[in-house]
Amino acid sequence: MRVFNFSAGPAVLPEEVLNIAKNEMLEYKNSGMSVMEMSHRSKDFENILNEAEKDLRTLMNIPENYKILFLQGGGWTQFAMIPLNLMRNRVADYIITGQWSKKAAGEAKLYGTVNEVASSADKNFSYIPDLSNLNISSNADYVYICQNNTIYGTTIKNLPNTKGKLLVSDISSMFLSEPLDVNKYGLIYGGVQKNVGPAGVTIVIIREDLIRDDVLPFTPTMLKYKTHADHNSLFNTPPCYGIYICGLVFKWLLKLGGVEAIHKINIEKAKILYDYLDSSKLFKGTVEKKDRSLMNVPFITGNKELDAKFIAQASEAGFKNIKGHRTVGGMRASLYNAMPIEGVKKLVEFMKNFEAEN
Ligand SMILES: *Cc1c(COP(=O)(O)O)cnc(C)c1O
Repeated sequence: MRVFNFSAGPAVLPEEVLNIAKNEMLEYKNSGMSVMEMSHRSKDFENILNEAEKDLRTLMNIPENYKILFLQGGGWTQFAMIPLNLMRNRVADYIITGQWSKKAAGEAKLYGTVNEVASSADKNFSYIPDLSNLNISSNADYVYICQNNTIYGTTIKNLPNTKGKLLVSDISSMFLSEPLDVNKYGLIYGGVQKNVGPAGVTIVIIREDLIRDDVLPFTPTMLKYKTHADHNSLFNTPPCYGIYICGLVFKWLLKLGGVEAIHKINIEKAKILYDYLDSSKLFKGTVEKKDRSLMNVPFITGNKELDAKFIAQASEAGFKNIKGHRTVGGMRASLYNAMPIEGVKKLVEFMKNFEAEN
């Protein structure tokens, strides 16, 4: 029996997609083999990659002057690739709204000066600071944000005023969950294991003029965007099977009506849980309402033993991976695209019963 999996990542995937993968597991179309067994230079795989790219371009309305790269190494490798490729003055401004931007800034410090121009560390990252008039460094190569904070459950809803500087955004845990205007960014990236596909694929969307040879001199070949851009993500063996699954997820989303359609569903889903949290006397959300994420919803009872009891009983009842991150405590329900609305309704029902009994 499949459970309701509220994991923050790797996370739930659409059942429909898993079924297609199951049916094509031994023999992909007329190839006589699994996608896992194919040469990455074969016609079949080339089609899989090109379709995935085309469909993602459609879904996100990605302009022609942006390249889509299917890479490996997760978010963490981007923490290094971004400064290595973009830090020409060796200066960058980072907005610190959680662990992931903090870690990204830490990695960038290996290569240059990092100015932390805003932070919400003072209140355990439970809010998004005002980003409308920051002290942006005049020589900053870029301004960095983590747009959805997976751990804390906040989202940057108004992009920072970068005062003309390049905006770089980690969208790992909100990839394809709501429409974004790609034109506002120099580079967007995300590990796909939160909302798009299996762990092992990282998607980078980068404006073409930023793909250059004059990167920091010690940058390894594999960590240059140009290496991958010049070879259409086929410089070396890419994560073929993961890209195939991402491609199926893109088709699933297109069939559903695209990002606008899933965004409406995501709003509806999150509202069910947030409305209950706001009315409950037992459970409460941990972040400022205006900054709430549609994807990750942390909540607590305020009593550690009761939290533990809830997590154990929820797990027993088929609501899995609902334990919060250790730095927040309590619970966290991740409501990614593939979480059916029914899962949230049943969770809230379960929470209501738990509240009545405790
Ligand atoms: C999970 C996560 C990361 C880290 O990704 P890895 O692929 O594990 O390196 C980075 N940023 C955000 C927002 C995340 O949610």
